[in-house]
Amino acid sequence: MKTVRRFLEELYYIPYCSVCDSAAIPPLPSPHICRDCLSTLPFRMGKEKVTWEGAFPLYASLFYRDPVPRMVVSLKFSDRTDRANAMAPLLARTVERHSLSFDAIVPVPLHVKRERERGYNQAALIAGSLSEILALPVIDGWLVRDVYTEPQSLSQTMKERFLHLKDAFTLEDDLPVGHFLSGRHVLLVDDVLTTGATLSAAAAPLIAAGMKVTGLVAASDKDRYDGYREALEAYF
Ligand SMILES: [Zn+2]
Repeated sequence: MKTVRRFLEELYYIPYCSVCDSAAIPPLPSPHICRDCLSTLPFRMGKEKVTWEGAFPLYASLFYRDPVPRMVVSLKFSDRTDRANAMAPLLARTVERHSLSFDAIVPVPLHVKRERERGYNQAALIAGSLSEILALPVIDGWLVRDVYTEPQSLSQTMKERFLHLKDAFTLEDDLPVGHFLSGRHVLLVDDVLTTGATLSAAAAPLIAAGMKVTGLVAASDKDRYDGYREALEAYF
């Protein structure tokens, strides 16, 4: 039975948009995003399959353009974990649009020190919300990041970054999930793709263990951004 408090909360709860934070009148077109924001988000439209140099297919739902950087930064640094729930349905649509199917979702892990500083891993939050929508298991804590990276320094060249991350990720040998996933298709999820070094390094031990990997990130600026109108016209 509902408590009185729960009843009142539901009665007076006003949903707000996870992008602009303004109160939104239900029903929202997306569970957490108001109509205005949904119409201005920089969707990658026909460019969700990213052109890149990686060894496995990669998809991104949004370009890393306003207001996406604001969403991502507050998700990472201001405890705005609700942003992960707003992004996950957009990632799920990308999966559905391309008729992709997977056996499990693996979030790109943070180094344990970084996760302790932040209190959570934003990629794991997105993966968790995505797993509920797609009804897939999320395997967290199996892929591990062994190398601590200082907050991305501008002096680091792309080559240095790739070398630094080369063997940064490993799989926890003693988890039985490894046997279950060998030969299966895993969706590797992260929030943003910039150089691709992190995602490539994170996929390496999964591929080496016999898994088929597909990457999915909320946002990436790889490929040309045409602007919303142009993309929309090309898409429909
Ligand atoms: Zn909004």
